[in-house]
Amino acid sequence: MKTIQYLIIASLLCFTAQPLTVYAAESDDSEFNYIMKQVTDKIHVIFGPLELPDSKNHGFRNNVIIVTTSKGIVLMDPGGSAWAGEMVASKIKETFDMPIAAVFDSHAHGDHWLGNEGIKRHYPNAVIYGHPNMKARLEGNDGPFWLETINRITENTADGKHVVAPDKIVNDGDVITVGDTNFRIIHTGKAHTDNDIMIEIVGENALFTGDVVRNRFLGIMEDDSSFKGNIAAIDKIAAMKFEYYIPGHGSVGAVGMALAYKSYLASLRDAVKELYDEGMSDYEMKPQVITALSDFNSWTGFELRLGAHISRVYLEIEKDEFE
Ligand SMILES: [Zn+2]
Ligand SMILES: [Zn+2]
Repeated sequence: MKTIQYLIIASLLCFTAQPLTVYAAESDDSEFNYIMKQVTDKIHVIFGPLELPDSKNHGFRNNVIIVTTSKGIVLMDPGGSAWAGEMVASKIKETFDMPIAAVFDSHAHGDHWLGNEGIKRHYPNAVIYGHPNMKARLEGNDGPFWLETINRITENTADGKHVVAPDKIVNDGDVITVGDTNFRIIHTGKAHTDNDIMIEIVGENALFTGDVVRNRFLGIMEDDSSFKGNIAAIDKIAAMKFEYYIPGHGSVGAVGMALAYKSYLASLRDAVKELYDEGMSDYEMKPQVITALSDFNSWTGFELRLGAHISRVYLEIEKDEFE
């Protein structure tokens, strides 16, 4: 009997010592009613599904971070469509007795900022922050491109009417204070994009990484990305040793989760460099790269994204050689 009790206590202790695995994406029914989960005292996350945007998920697929402060809610990445922004706004209304004071957009990919529009419909006074390059991209061609794309691939269930770009810009080292909570901005130059911001929630031992880190998930890397820069960015934030790394997609993890994503980027770069040096073209090397990266082949998006990632890394290596 005692042994059983010990076993139960031991398994409970084990569970509390490793709480990070519980934060997976979940919806409680087929209506895609996404569940909000608490990570720390002040931080909740609505985990986005990992599927591609479609008419069923209305374009929602990223992690939405909700921080409660004494002066209202601070959101990070309000969702990938106006529909998602409205869904997030209503959940916040149901759960917390306070308005949305501010929003941080981690970068210019549509799955992270198209929700701005839905938030502003409910909270027009919420102040939206982003990197200067991000604001410029949204006010240039990228904003309309993402809006048109999400409406098309969701058969207009994304409900997007217009581009809502950040109201204010933030840069590396800036600290934004909302009530009793400080938010420290980290930008390390080109990484996942040329406009990433990561946000430390000061006092909570937590960092929201945007897509600089994705947990067992591979998504797009565009022509403003740098695999080398992304690796350096992860080295920097890993050295800061936060307890919670909250990625743009996938579950919350400890530093090992961030380093696993770095390991994917570094292994890919090494494999492509070796075959590049042997004179192979990017499409010729794909089967060998797949073998070299077998540790990562169970990650969501591996088959879909690897070819494009190889081409990006190939161009990056080629460019390095001629600089
Ligand atoms: Zn992205
Ligand atoms: Zn993303």
